[in-house]
Amino acid sequence: MESFDVIIIGAGPAGLKCAETLGNSNKKVLVLERNSKIGSKPCGGLMTTQGINYLKQDVGAEKFNHVFMNVADKKNKIDIRKNPLYTINRIDLGQFQVTKLNKFQNIVIRKDSPVKKIEKNYVVVHDKKIKFDYLVGADGSSSMVRRYLKVKTNKVGVAFYS
Ligand SMILES: Cc1cc2nc3c(=O)[nH]c(=O)nc-3n(C[C@H](O)[C@H](O)[C@H](O)COP(=O)(O)OP(=O)(O)OC[C@H]3O[C@@H](n4cnc5c(N)ncnc54)[C@H](O)[C@@H]3O)c2cc1C
Repeated sequence: MESFDVIIIGAGPAGLKCAETLGNSNKKVLVLERNSKIGSKPCGGLMTTQGINYLKQDVGAEKFNHVFMNVADKKNKIDIRKNPLYTINRIDLGQFQVTKLNKFQNIVIRKDSPVKKIEKNYVVVHDKKIKFDYLVGADGSSSMVRRYLKVKTNKVGVAFYS
C-alpha cells in the first residue's frame, strides 16, 4: 500500500498553507484535491490589507477605496482609503500557493483525487488505499474528516454568490 506521513485532504487555502508549513520537514506529505483545478470555488475573494500584506507578493489583487452601501432608499459611499479592501481571483491564489510548494521535494499534490472513504490509518482514492500517520482535514465546510471524527457543528451559515 502507498504510504505517506501526512495526508492533507483539500487543496484550498488552508490545505496548501498546511503543506507549505510542512515543506522541508522530514515528513512525506500528500495533498489530495478532488477537483481538476485548484481554487475553482465560489468565493468573493475579498481580502483585507492585512491579508494582502501577509501574502508578501503581488498576486494581482484589485484594490477598492470605497464601499457602497444601500440602506432602504439611501445610498451611502463609504471612504475606506485608510483600510482599503482587495479582491483576488481564487484560481490565482491557488496557483500562487501551489507555486510556493514546487520547491519542496517532500510535498506531493494530486488533483482529480476525491477521498471517498476514511479509515483509521488510510484513505481511499479511486478504489486505492493510501496509508497515513497523520490526517489533516482541510476539506472545507462539509468536511468528511469532521464527519469521520464526529465533530459537531452547531452553527450554519448561508452565503449567496452571483
Ligand atoms: C459564496 C462565498 C463567498 C465567499 N467570499 C469570501 C470573501 O470574499 N473573502 C473571504 O476571505 N472568504 C470568502 N468566503 C469564504 C472562503 O471561501 C473560505 O473561508 C475558504 O475557502 C476556506 O478555505 P479552506 O481551505 O478551509 O476550504 P476550501 O477553500 O473550501 O477548500 C477545501 C478544498 O477541499 C476539497 N475537498 C473537499 N472534499 C474533498 C474530498 N473528499 N477529497 C478531496 N478534496 C476535497 C475541495 O474541493 C476544496 O478545494 C466565501 C465563501 C463563499 C461560499
